[in-house]
Amino acid sequence: MEMSNLHDKGSLMNYNIGVGSSLIKLMEMDPKYRTIAYFSMEIGVESDIPTYAGGLGILAGDVLKSSADLGVPIVGITLLYKHGYFKQRIDENGRQVEEPYQWNPEEKLTLLPNEVNVEIEGRPVHVRVWVYEIVGQSGYIVPIYFLDTDYDKNTPEDRTFSWYLYGGDLRYRLCQEMILGIGGLRILRDLGYNNINTFHLNEGHAGFLALELLREQGYVDFAKIKEQVVFTSHTPVPAGHDYFPFELIEKTMSPVFVDYLKQMMPNGGVSMVDFGLKYSRFINAVSKKHREVSKKLYNTESIDYITNGVHSASWTSSNIQKLFDEHMPGWRNDPSRLVMAMKLKDDELWKEHQANKMFLFSKILERTGVELDAEILTIGFARRAVAYKRADLLFKDINRLIDICSGKVQLIFSGKAHPSDEEGKAMIQRVINFSKELSGKIPVIFLENYDMELAGLLTAGVDVWLNTPLRPREASGTSGMKCAHNGVLNLSILDGWWVEGWIEDVTGWAIGPEPTEVELTHYDESKDAEALYKTLEEKVIPLYYQHRDRWISMMKNSIALNASYFNTHRVVREYCERAYKVYQKYY
Ligand SMILES: *Cc1c(COP(=O)(O)O)cnc(C)c1O
Repeated sequence: MEMSNLHDKGSLMNYNIGVGSSLIKLMEMDPKYRTIAYFSMEIGVESDIPTYAGGLGILAGDVLKSSADLGVPIVGITLLYKHGYFKQRIDENGRQVEEPYQWNPEEKLTLLPNEVNVEIEGRPVHVRVWVYEIVGQSGYIVPIYFLDTDYDKNTPEDRTFSWYLYGGDLRYRLCQEMILGIGGLRILRDLGYNNINTFHLNEGHAGFLALELLREQGYVDFAKIKEQVVFTSHTPVPAGHDYFPFELIEKTMSPVFVDYLKQMMPNGGVSMVDFGLKYSRFINAVSKKHREVSKKLYNTESIDYITNGVHSASWTSSNIQKLFDEHMPGWRNDPSRLVMAMKLKDDELWKEHQANKMFLFSKILERTGVELDAEILTIGFARRAVAYKRADLLFKDINRLIDICSGKVQLIFSGKAHPSDEEGKAMIQRVINFSKELSGKIPVIFLENYDMELAGLLTAGVDVWLNTPLRPREASGTSGMKCAHNGVLNLSILDGWWVEGWIEDVTGWAIGPEPTEVELTHYDESKDAEALYKTLEEKVIPLYYQHRDRWISMMKNSIALNASYFNTHRVVREYCERAYKVYQKYY
């Protein structure tokens, strides 16, 4: 990989300092002009760098990509996972089998000479760092630093801390979070980042960086720490949030840090979310609805919201990109221009959509041997296989489903369950069993190993994107936004982003009623399947087969009304204005 001057101090000499643009270049490359550090347990930038599990990591990658495009002085920081999340295979019984990823960081990243250590259980754990450089539209570089303990200075056990994303037990997670928060900040200092005034916690995992900030300033002022931290919450339920009891913390952290943690969180242990809420100057949820739910959950008014988005150029398929280039030039660095999508020609948009569909089907044929029909309405459902996402809702009444969909609909599923999530695995198995039961009536495909590449193919190549989360569990959701960029229509429960993006029969369709104030936390989901069948039967299927012109106008609507807004360029601008207080490029 080519290195930028950001990490190659020697070649700074090559710049002619007398020339204006070179001066700007020099400033861009100098760590002292970077003011924001973005910490995330997972970051997904490329399909083949398997350091992500789902939406949280891909959002992080998309935010950093848009930051590079816009010239925001930010750096990203995460852990290197040598064995990734995991590679999913489905066995003959429909059971998920997990295999560790094997990938070579040296093919994708560059190892830097910097090194720090973090005291864990009384011994120093050495941390080194790899860099990946995102080059923005205009050449501005945003580096992502991947922390690594898997090298010969460490004991065999300590080396495993940078092996698995969301693997291991609570102690393993605590060690990883110490490396991310404390080690991450130390590495940034070692790299020369001494003017960071905003530490952005993408979820609470890196919260321990507050301890290192305290140590740096001589342990004086908690309020001063708070001034430097921004916290984004992504989960609308407390279950699943990291919680470390002091008993474990005492065994793991150095005594000074334990002391300060006990003063900061005097209640038996540390919830990383509570920690983030207490020690951040700006807190946000990731959709309007999620803000309402979070305010109630955490009993506080001081939660803002910045609704998520996706990186437009990354999630728009290449042939649709060409149409956008032709009709809405400049959209890549200003996706709000997609508001002019009405200018797209019906026949051109349809032709490119069908091309995407046929390309997806050719991949499915390769992978599964099953041949799908590009003239048949195709519904996609792909996301982490976790119970609340209800991948099997569509199969609640099989006879009804056959009645409505036989000969008219094809279904494609994909998604990984966390290795210890038995419910999620059982859900995958049920979907696969239904696919066998429906064989000959409704084609149902399950694609193994959902990753960014597959997500790109699916969110461009199906006709309708189905989302059936149990309210209020979907904080935002982002895959539907990828679809909007490709003219794929959303059919979804009104939760997360869809509450903001949905206009019935204009941008897509709702399943079930609109959310009300009283059901923020409790919701009667018993009628959701019925609502889904009704909408398919009365709206989606007839429109697809009988009113293609109206269908295509909805495709344009979703580009114009949804893609123009639900993108990370808008998200990053909002973070700059409201959370980072950076209003423009610094030059
Ligand atoms: C976009 C994406 C997600 C997130 O999808 P949601 O709709 O938020 O569930 C998860 N996994 C992959 C691989 C993705 O590309």
